[in-house]
Amino acid sequence: MRFCALLTVLLALSTALFAQSATTPSSSAMPELERFSIEQVDKSLDPCVDFFQYACRKWIKANPIPPDQGSWGTFDSLALWNIAAVHNTLEEAAQPSPNRTPVEQKVGDYYASCMNEDAINKAGIAPLQPELDRIARMKAKSQLPEVLASLHQIIRPANLSYIDAYYQGVVFGIYSQPGLDDASITLAILDQAGMALPGREFYLNDDAKSKEIRDKYVKHVARMLELSGEPQAQAAADSQTVLAMETELAKAAMDIVARRDPKNLNNKMSLQQIQALTPSFEWKRYFAATRAPSSPQYLVTAPSFFRGMETLIQSHSIEQWRAYLRWSAVNSVASSLSQPFVEEDFNFFGRTLAGTQQLPPRWRRCSVDADTDLGEAVGQAYVAKYFPPENKERMLQMVKAIKTALDQDIAAATWMSDATKQAAHAKLAAQVDKIGYPDRWRDYSSVEIRRDDFLGNVQRASAFEIRRRMAQFGQPTDRTEWGMTPPTVNAYEDPQHNTINFPAGILQPPFFDARASDAANFGAIGAVIGHEIIHGYDDQGRKFDGGGNLKDWWTAADAASYDQRDQCITDEYTQDVPEAGVKQNGKLSAGEDTADNGGVHIALAGLQNTLKSQGKSLDQPAANGETELQNFFLSYANVWCGDNRPELARTAVMTQGHSLNRYRVNNVMGNMPEFGHAFGCRAGQPMVHANACRVW
Ligand SMILES: [Zn+2]
Repeated sequence: MRFCALLTVLLALSTALFAQSATTPSSSAMPELERFSIEQVDKSLDPCVDFFQYACRKWIKANPIPPDQGSWGTFDSLALWNIAAVHNTLEEAAQPSPNRTPVEQKVGDYYASCMNEDAINKAGIAPLQPELDRIARMKAKSQLPEVLASLHQIIRPANLSYIDAYYQGVVFGIYSQPGLDDASITLAILDQAGMALPGREFYLNDDAKSKEIRDKYVKHVARMLELSGEPQAQAAADSQTVLAMETELAKAAMDIVARRDPKNLNNKMSLQQIQALTPSFEWKRYFAATRAPSSPQYLVTAPSFFRGMETLIQSHSIEQWRAYLRWSAVNSVASSLSQPFVEEDFNFFGRTLAGTQQLPPRWRRCSVDADTDLGEAVGQAYVAKYFPPENKERMLQMVKAIKTALDQDIAAATWMSDATKQAAHAKLAAQVDKIGYPDRWRDYSSVEIRRDDFLGNVQRASAFEIRRRMAQFGQPTDRTEWGMTPPTVNAYEDPQHNTINFPAGILQPPFFDARASDAANFGAIGAVIGHEIIHGYDDQGRKFDGGGNLKDWWTAADAASYDQRDQCITDEYTQDVPEAGVKQNGKLSAGEDTADNGGVHIALAGLQNTLKSQGKSLDQPAANGETELQNFFLSYANVWCGDNRPELARTAVMTQGHSLNRYRVNNVMGNMPEFGHAFGCRAGQPMVHANACRVW
């Protein structure tokens, strides 16, 4: 199970998240934050025909996608603001001074090592050479456990808030997670991985575009192998081997939609049972080499994948395995190597898969890397400077108002029995909200950071994180742990911790604005709060109880009613994305779409209760001339104003659970009678859905 986040950041493209000028300022001028304003609305359009255009066309026109971005929206402007803030704290911390705290020294030296591009370019592939030598020395496939254990400990582990199709472990992934049947104890998870393209469909689909991407991929692999020192002819041959082996893994991997059902992932095994799945891979040796503690049970998410791994070991020669491992090692750290590797890596993952035209400036990439590798150290300085405590207080009030609204919504539901309602109320009461940053900061004192060794720093920080996760095997689950860093512009619900989490990074305009009206805040951050709360009750979340256990608390009749409502959403969101040449899969995005629809619904109810307590109503005009209700909907849409390049839209639709922005606005509004009321829409107009869907 992964977290249910507000949006998916494409892992391979994450350096392209932040952008703009290519200069290297010693400190960033803080960019303007995007605040919701009625001036952005295009009054020449009819809100009842296409509300997304009505609310966003002006903004999109005035804010074209920068060349070093795959997408651009009001959301990204905040990400840019946050990374400028992080950059400023890093620049300060990077100045050698006896007054630096140990935390400042660590993040400052890390940043300085990343910014030292001359040294990185001079070193070339050398910092990775010990790992490549280890692979070259591999004489028999029986040595795979030690080689993989070594690679797994120095390669940046996936952020668990990303959708699992992006999990990029070498061959397989290993991490920790609460047990599905008993969430109070954390177990070892063995997961499918080993594919560098962002999803198994990229290997298996047969359309012209997929073939074109695979052709480019093979060329990219060959170029990277050549850069790492292989002769051209060998690199060309090896790149074909890599595609063939990754395609075998893709065939064995579980489909992304099947993975949405936690029951399919709940395969508890002993070490002996895992050994029986893969007789050619000695797990005892792998775990001994990683020095991981034993786990009471092992969750094997996709046993068929591990059978496929066994076949792959048997059917490919040691030479072929060395080629695959060499590629995997180089690919995993490419963005931390010298310029030729960085550029070739960007050429494929940035240009081909996201349509991005140019690499973001180095200082921005280094700031993102520092946030990734030492996030809770970087976050301390960020929070101290940029997160006022009063923001937390107002957030808590909004969360309370919106939870009360869901409680009322559950009580009023005509399609649930009293028994199911009672369990739903209990689950909501047990849900913990976490706002801003962790109560206890992660201690990085054991991570050695050297001012002159960037790749080494990345590898040691990665090893620290992997060992931290492995140390949790068999231990009581820690619900206070955070899965996102403080400057992150995102939010998530964790069904197994039964928590909703809002990093400080999202508690800024256009989401949260201390100066804005309640209507504007409930429409923006309120809808995000609602979205995360509802994840506990979407097609995945509803399968977990208040304690985070995979336990069915629904009567059969109520579950059937749920499925019927879910189907309406699934059908509605299955639609063509003409410019990207793909179709959205409503089955893949059902959870996110349900969270969007229910989230706006309970945020609106929360606003209504809040206004009522102030003696106001939704239909009364606000200071800007629109009614409170109109402002609520416009502020919601404003958060999603933005555009994707077609390449990124295609990759996103194929691999992630979030619908494209225009559907996140128009489908939700079209399902709400309150929207038609707010803007005087008539039956038959596009924004009034004849068959309006509603789960929550
Ligand atoms: Zn979500």
